[in-house]
Amino acid sequence: MARINIIGGGIIGLLTARELLHRGHDVHVLDAGDGRNSASCGNAGIIAPGHPPIANPALRSQALSLLLDRNSPLYIPPRPDPALFRWLLQFRRSCDRHRHARLVEILNQLSHLSMTGWKELLDDDAIAPHLRPVGWAEVCCEQASLDLAAGEVDVLRRDGFEAEVIDGDELRRRDDVFSEHVVGALVHPRDILTDPAAMLSALEDDVIRSGGHVHHGCMIRDLLVDGRGRCHGVQTDDDEVIESEIVVLAAGIWSDRFARRHQVRLPMQAAKGYHLMLKMDSAPRTGFVCRETMIGVNPMNNGLRLAGTLELSGINQRMSRRRLELLRSGVARYIHGIDQAEVTSEWNGLRPCTADGLPIIGPLPGLAGAFVATGHGMMGYTLGPATARIIGALIDGEQPEIDLGSFDPSRF
Ligand SMILES: Cc1cc2nc3c(=O)[nH]c(=O)nc-3n(C[C@H](O)[C@H](O)[C@H](O)COP(=O)(O)OP(=O)(O)OC[C@H]3O[C@@H](n4cnc5c(N)ncnc54)[C@H](O)[C@@H]3O)c2cc1C
Repeated sequence: MARINIIGGGIIGLLTARELLHRGHDVHVLDAGDGRNSASCGNAGIIAPGHPPIANPALRSQALSLLLDRNSPLYIPPRPDPALFRWLLQFRRSCDRHRHARLVEILNQLSHLSMTGWKELLDDDAIAPHLRPVGWAEVCCEQASLDLAAGEVDVLRRDGFEAEVIDGDELRRRDDVFSEHVVGALVHPRDILTDPAAMLSALEDDVIRSGGHVHHGCMIRDLLVDGRGRCHGVQTDDDEVIESEIVVLAAGIWSDRFARRHQVRLPMQAAKGYHLMLKMDSAPRTGFVCRETMIGVNPMNNGLRLAGTLELSGINQRMSRRRLELLRSGVARYIHGIDQAEVTSEWNGLRPCTADGLPIIGPLPGLAGAFVATGHGMMGYTLGPATARIIGALIDGEQPEIDLGSFDPSRF
């Protein structure tokens, strides 16, 4: 049994903690926040294995229009930032048709491994009440988008995911909230919906019940490394030293700061997303993503969540009214009654995005005893259980269930 410090109590940190506790370790999750403000708390809550990465061939030619269009779902405010420039260049390379196809294949393998983990979580009485395996739909208002979505079905089925295309009438028969503008949908019938905040708090309770420790308001400043290059703990902002045999860096977009102090680069951009919670008289019963505007809609116990937009404006949590408004206007064409809905809360959070669209999972180069698990971008919930299993296997010196070459932290 090893004593393990995990930096970060978002979905990746907590799922990893749970896995390591099941493997018999002494686990301490050290989180700077209060457990209610990370990307993991306010996201769309759609567990979407097989979801294609944002880097895709269609985006390759749109870079300039994205830079200039404040109303685009993906917005990049122009600024002189060499790191952003380098990231965009690499992102553009990832949009290449062949690279994209390979990326889909790798992410789908990771999704599969994750689904094994989600199935186990569905069997856990403490977690299952927060998971709804009711499926979700990618809803299209334009025939061209539906044709594109229909073209993805073959790849999804090839890679072992269930999916079907239905027309607008069939979707309206299933849920009459959808408007006449909708021409059809790609349905993922077995996927899981969750309320991320409730899920995170259930996971945290489970970690504590299983003998782990979760410390909030615990801002870590640095990793501690001995003369032989072995990581032996962390130092907090209050100069407290917390020793451990293993450290897992799962601090989302903030992970790179730690790595850089030890000459390792984990280049990511913070892709800010927003959510609105709405109180609505006749809310949709179906969870869905608006295929053209890329906004996720998830009916939860405490209201309807609209979540989305992707803004590369650096690491900050400034609210943009314009982008919040885009959520409501971006859904208005798809369903009835959204204009009259009352806003009950607003939020934003930062997705940790790599330019090659792949997470960073594995040993931190040059630092024995330190591991990193971050860079999940738009897919942190979806891919979290796979990441936890991989980190668990690595720490115990086992062969992980899939090849880790593509996720190697030393690839940058
Ligand atoms: C609008 C939006 C919608 C999304 N929808 C989905 C979806 O439907 N499905 C899906 O799979 N994914 C979705 N995502 C992506 C998903 O939310 C992220 O990939 C995931 O939450 C990342 O988790 P994480 O644990 O790596 O990072 P985070 O959730 O950011 O957690 C990192 C934690 O590290 C802590 N930390 C940072 N620095 C320090 C420090 N110095 N010391 C101690 N602690 C520190 C922070 O307090 C934080 O709690 C969405 C994201 C957004 C923004």
